[in-house]
Amino acid sequence: MRDIVRAPGEMREFAFSVPAPEKWGEGLVSVKQGEPVDIDVRVESVHEGMLVSGTIDSEYSGICGRCLTDIVQPVEVEIQELFTYPGHETADFEVQDDHVDLESLVRDAIVLSLPFQPVCQPDCPGLDPATGERLATSPVSEQTGAPDPRWAALQDYTRDHDDDSPRSAPGDTAVRNTEES
Ligand SMILES: [Zn+2]
Repeated sequence: MRDIVRAPGEMREFAFSVPAPEKWGEGLVSVKQGEPVDIDVRVESVHEGMLVSGTIDSEYSGICGRCLTDIVQPVEVEIQELFTYPGHETADFEVQDDHVDLESLVRDAIVLSLPFQPVCQPDCPGLDPATGERLATSPVSEQTGAPDPRWAALQDYTRDHDDDSPRSAPGDTAVRNTEES
């Protein structure tokens, strides 16, 4: 990269993979130490310094915040940062000895992108409050055959209104009496 330092307009692309030098992230999930971090960046020499932009790919692991199962998910972040030459206005990043130190930039970008409430799946139902078991283990609730209590109530309702028994007509007995003489 030395060849493009202080050569505005020059540009180089870099693609490489480095292991995470330490565990990144303090939450439920983190990028483990040694986890490969793929760095694909473009470094442009500009008047004030070096403009670094590109994408970072890695993988975080930990536990689902709802059901506590182990999860491993890819993480991809976009970065863009200007590393200024020493002597320019103070910035977060400086070109040091003809190079830029990407580590803290990449680490911060990754850590900020890690989910605060990671989930194994977007609609993870979490744990059963009664048994503490994962609700997600049975993907479709089984049909038990027991009637839904709401239907049972409806059945009672229809039975209650089934009492319109026909009344006996008066006068039938008087007709029979005429045969006896
Ligand atoms: Zn889950």
